[in-house]
Amino acid sequence: MLKCKDVGSNATEFLSGALPWRVNLSVVWHLLRCGNCRLAVIQILTMLRALRKRPAKPPTEAQIQLWIDALDHDHSGHTHH
Ligand SMILES: [Zn+2]
Repeated sequence: MLKCKDVGSNATEFLSGALPWRVNLSVVWHLLRCGNCRLAVIQILTMLRALRKRPAKPPTEAQIQLWIDALDHDHSGHTHH
């Protein structure tokens, strides 16, 4: 029988389908009986979905420089490099 700790440490593998089916089954069995772990797995699932939808990608230096150039251009009117 899996413990809550085991479910927690296997949660991401469980959600990505990387677990052997026997382990997967015991995780599902545990989730059916344990509301705490069910909530935790749902939270991880929501987080993973959010990450997939909107990958955190900070702008590069070049991108920032482009924005600065664009701003400069707007203010100074007709100057070109
Ligand atoms: Zn549990």
